Amino acid sequence: MVNCNVYGCKNRTERNQPNITFHRFPNNPQLKDAWIKCTRRINWNPKSHSRICSKHFDPSCFQQKSNRTYLNPHSIPTLFMKASVRIRHDMRLLCINFVVIGASCAVK
Ligand SMILES: [Zn+2]
Repeated sequence: MVNCNVYGCKNRTERNQPNITFHRFPNNPQLKDAWIKCTRRINWNPKSHSRICSKHFDPSCFQQKSNRTYLNPHSIPTLFMKASVRIRHDMRLLCINFVVIGASCAVK
């Protein structure tokens, strides 16, 4: 079973949600740091099994290859649960800025 590590997100693999995929944290330190900030967890570091679910990525972050869904490299999770969690404004801005600065979803 894999949980999504974004604070407030209840998605996990054991629920039968075929539209949701789970993605491991990137190796690139800068990118990884942005992901960690986007989870909105304080003093937390991802473990090797930590994942973020596809609900936090813009649909343009994904590509389909032979029936599997892949997350484009350099994608940043910028979408958060709205109702259940109060979004810290600075965190959200940080994530969005990161995308704008040059690590957008598109691989070109
Ligand atoms: Zn999630």
